Amino acid sequence: MQDQEANEAVVIGAGVVGLSVAIALQSEGRTVTVLDKAGVAQGASAGNAGMLAFSEIMPHASPGIMRQAPRWLADPLGPLSIRPAYAVKILPFLARFSAASRPAIYRRILAAQASFMPMAEEAFDRLVSSAALARHVQTTGTLSLYDTQASFAASAAEWEIRRQAGISFQEIAGAEIDALQPGLAPQLRGLARYVPGGRQVVDPRLYTQALAAHFEARGGKLERAEVLKVEAMERGARLILPGGRQRKAATVVLCAGAWSKTLAAWLGDRIPLETERGYNTTLAPGAFDLRRQIYFPDHGFVATPVGGGVRIGGAVELGGLALPPNYRRADAMLAKAARFLPGLNTNGGTQWMGFRPSMPDTLAVIGPASASRDIVYAFGHGHLGLTQSAGTGRLIADLLAGRQAPIDMAPFAPARFR
Ligand SMILES: Cc1cc2nc3c(=O)[nH]c(=O)nc-3n(C[C@H](O)[C@H](O)[C@H](O)COP(=O)(O)OP(=O)(O)OC[C@H]3O[C@@H](n4cnc5c(N)ncnc54)[C@H](O)[C@@H]3O)c2cc1C
Repeated sequence: MQDQEANEAVVIGAGVVGLSVAIALQSEGRTVTVLDKAGVAQGASAGNAGMLAFSEIMPHASPGIMRQAPRWLADPLGPLSIRPAYAVKILPFLARFSAASRPAIYRRILAAQASFMPMAEEAFDRLVSSAALARHVQTTGTLSLYDTQASFAASAAEWEIRRQAGISFQEIAGAEIDALQPGLAPQLRGLARYVPGGRQVVDPRLYTQALAAHFEARGGKLERAEVLKVEAMERGARLILPGGRQRKAATVVLCAGAWSKTLAAWLGDRIPLETERGYNTTLAPGAFDLRRQIYFPDHGFVATPVGGGVRIGGAVELGGLALPPNYRRADAMLAKAARFLPGLNTNGGTQWMGFRPSMPDTLAVIGPASASRDIVYAFGHGHLGLTQSAGTGRLIADLLAGRQAPIDMAPFAPARFR
């Protein structure tokens, strides 16, 4: 391969992860092309809640969730649902999810997330300042509101773990809650937790588009193309595109979010990636005077100020990539939000469904394909892809440059499922 070609990296996927990786590789002096079948910010990165959830170090597969799941599953429009047409297909994922909730494994996953998050935050701050993207980020603080004293108490242990990991938060009540967010329903004004440093992007779609603009301004190429298959070569890789077209690259980074599983399978890696489909409704500016990010832990959804309006959503639906959306889920969360935020104007909202790329052990897949070290994976960030995007870029840049990673990469290795 010529020197110029040997320097070329192709990133598959123009979501927040792919673009953050692409920018990190540009900083290493590489020539980078990003390919996406649909264009910039067309997947989960477009419509998420925008939270920079660096304090969310808790694994999803926890002993607690295994107790809670049956209750949640009983409500077809509740925080967790399985589409009946997908119930059998999801069983292997659920078996791995259950295994990950065993205390010893749970503690290992927690330690891995706790090591990744500070590094991800540092990388995010560096990216945002070097790319002049500060106007896309705001510190609003994150308020977690509980229905009852019992649920507040039940979550005390996990917050103590966060405290030990250096995450600052306050426990507040009554008038203190009102001062941070006026206009709440009385049952939510009992006890709350508040992370004053909680940050978010103003609008995730605009942030991702700004990353793409920064990437192009530095000479990066964005192309619309679906990658059907990636093949390892003695050096580098070959991409198979529609119409029998092919293209070679010295390095390929697979960042195709929830769609990465099939491409990895062609390379011989059976990765148990699934999608946790999430729904939301974005209401126009003026719908509610939402002062900050509000999390309703008892109901599995959030309200965040996005682009001057209010975005309400979350929840998890296990239903694969092909079934049509069930927007009654978005309606159900909006109806609940109207009870919790009296006066919320629910008219005229825009509904959205996104495919979170999720792993049964919560941790992203970051590391080389088994077929070649010239092909690397960066997908599977689940609920935290925006939060961990810049950190992933840094880890991929280190890996491809042969530098020691700043954290232990074993828990994130694609090979952990072999
Ligand atoms: C309701 C909801 C709320 C969320 N809230 C938050 C939050 O507050 N904070 C947070 O950190 N995370 C949040 N997330 C998660 C976050 O959105 C994702 O983890 C993140 O966007 C994943 O980014 P990505 O770049 O890996 O994938 P995507 O954004 O999905 O991008 C993948 C891209 O790959 C392209 N692609 C796929 N297959 C191919 C192919 N064969 N060839 C070429 N291109 C291909 C797609 O077109 C797509 O553009 C939320 C997700 C949802 C659904």
